Amino acid sequence: TLSDRLGTALAGLRGKGRLSEADIDATAREIRIALLEADVALPVVRAFIARIKERAKGAEVSQALNPAQQVVKIVNEELIAVLGGETRRIALAKEPPSVIMLAGLQGSGKTTLAGKLARWLKGQGHTPLLVACDLQRPNAVNQLQIVGERAGVTTFAPEPGNGVGDPVDVARRGVAHARDKMYDIVIVDTAGRLGVDAELMQQASDIRDAVRPDETLFVVDAMIGQDAVATAEAFRDGVGFSGVVLTKLDGDARGGAALSVREVTGQPILFASNGEKLEDFDVFHPDRMASRILGMGDLLTLIEQAEQVFDAEKAQATADKIGSGELTLEDFLDQMLAIRKMGPIGNILGMLPGANSAQMKEALAQVDDKQLDKLQAIIRGMTPAERENPKIINGSRRLRIANGSGVTVSDVNDLVNRFFEARKQMKAMAGQFGFGGGGRRQS
Ligand code: GDP
Ligand code: MG
Repeated sequence: TLSDRLGTALAGLRGKGRLSEADIDATAREIRIALLEADVALPVVRAFIARIKERAKGAEVSQALNPAQQVVKIVNEELIAVLGGETRRIALAKEPPSVIMLAGLQGSGKTTLAGKLARWLKGQGHTPLLVACDLQRPNAVNQLQIVGERAGVTTFAPEPGNGVGDPVDVARRGVAHARDKMYDIVIVDTAGRLGVDAELMQQASDIRDAVRPDETLFVVDAMIGQDAVATAEAFRDGVGFSGVVLTKLDGDARGGAALSVREVTGQPILFASNGEKLEDFDVFHPDRMASRILGMGDLLTLIEQAEQVFDAEKAQATADKIGSGELTLEDFLDQMLAIRKMGPIGNILGMLPGANSAQMKEALAQVDDKQLDKLQAIIRGMTPAERENPKIINGSRRLRIANGSGVTVSDVNDLVNRFFEARKQMKAMAGQFGFGGGGRRQS
């Protein structure tokens, strides 16, 4: 697997300070073999490897990650990108009913998917209607009805005993029925063949033209490997589709189909099916698929932690500055921005050293997010020299800052005074709690 191969390649990178070109080439070779073994299409592999190499060569020496970890991080990020990046949600019509049409080869899992989708949509408060347009196989309509019953939804089917009906007509009447009876989503199940053929494509595009779907989902069995690409291209050219559903991911599929289909057709993967039961189904998440293909969940967690620890090192550096009384307004702003990224100020207070002391609690209780906005605006209005050395902020500078930040001079006075006061207090507290370095005095 990719993770085994990568593991071997990366073992050689351990302990190195920097990635050499030879290291990158060797690692890229292993990734290439692993992807080909996972049935990823050759052009997709080529493009992928080229991007990995380029990024690895340009990678800055990271203080948080060793070279092996850096490579894994890059491969993981590129995998996620190839798989579509963000999770794509299903598109529904502004005016119901929305129409979702399923297309794909026979046995790809369309009828099963119809039931899974219906169950899932129902769970979200929708009222889906299944429409049986596979009139090819004798038992197909019945199979959809059974699946519909299990999902607890209604199935619209041609009346039995009328001979072979016209699937285009059934589709049209099905959508009209949904409009009549206030179903808000129509799921159209269609026929498939064992291989791609012209008649099948024609029928599917006739149905498409009759019901004008909001989503046409190409359903593909992840276990067909390399064939997935040719099939996807045939359906793209013959019918067109707006999204992909991968089925049978519970088999030993290594994810090659996922990578290829998305990259070759440019259409996003919306859902993944991983079993025969209706609940074996989920929205497709590129990041989860990437870590499955990479098979390095633990290492990825480690990498995340390492990067967090690195942030902690930065925080320690700031703590040292606090301890020695060298904190500048620039540090103050940096800290504030970093803290705000983590959420509302109230959630973060508990993490600060000394947050449990009585005075600290009282001081922190007075800080709210709106006040932070104002402080941020004022500091942004200062020049770098002023932020570095707040002592130079005299009367005329205060007026200029106030005007530039849209606050009053007394707001600026307030901030500057509070900053000096805080610096003094923090320094004293730092000594008390035993963090922070030197005893250089400034204020
Ligand atoms: P259709 O011909 O495209 O409508 O395919 P079906 O929905 O009839 O599915 C064909 C076979 O694949 C059935 O036996 C299903 O139970 C099975 N199947 C469908 N989806 C999955 C899946 O995600 N995992 C597994 N293991 N089997 C599936
Ligand atoms: Mg079917």
